[in-house]
Amino acid sequence: MRGLLVGRFQPFHRGHLFVVQQIRSLRPEEPLILGLGSAQASYTWENPFTAGERTEMIARALDEAGLRAVTTVPIVDIDRHALWVAHVESLLPPFDRVYTNNPLTRLLFERARYTVESPPLFERERFEGARIRQRMAAGEEWSDLVPPATAAYLESIQAAHRLRQLARPASPRSRP
Ligand code: NAD
Repeated sequence: MRGLLVGRFQPFHRGHLFVVQQIRSLRPEEPLILGLGSAQASYTWENPFTAGERTEMIARALDEAGLRAVTTVPIVDIDRHALWVAHVESLLPPFDRVYTNNPLTRLLFERARYTVESPPLFERERFEGARIRQRMAAGEEWSDLVPPATAAYLESIQAAHRLRQLARPASPRSRP
């Protein structure tokens, strides 16, 4: 058996890490794939970080936490939801269990007869990508909401500066 956890991880936060730790402790022998959704997207408010940056922030966090047998695979979006599971299957090694709390992701994998599990949310009022992006843009404290190695990496790429720029409405002169 191999598991798949799908997410955008914008950014990878302590809620995501908690889920990975839960899955590894529940099924230590089962390899786990982190499917990086919306891999084509970056430098937008919803998806500020590139797939490469997300791969790096996750790798550092997993290494810091001593988590092994977890691989990360980018998945670009396609504009036909009905074909998305086949698209995912074409990009990943075989998997048979999917972990998600996203209603659309659940629906599509269930329709394709996968076993879908929804791990419990960990302090969702604190650990939520949109909330962390908002705090970054507002100049508020955010680093304790992500794993320490991820925080150091995000600092190194000036993530908060990027979020502040993306949060601003584009002026007429900066529009293409
Ligand atoms: P996300 O990063 O917001 O969440 C990833 C997972 O982590 C989710 O299951 C979420 O419930 C869980 N999580 C978040 N906070 C948590 C916390 N505090 N504690 C525990 N778990 C927590 O990513 P997402 O938006 O769910 O990603 C779905 C991806 O699938 C998107 O990129 C989407 O575009 C893609 N998708 C694409 C298509 C298509 O291309 N047609 C179709 C369906 C889905």
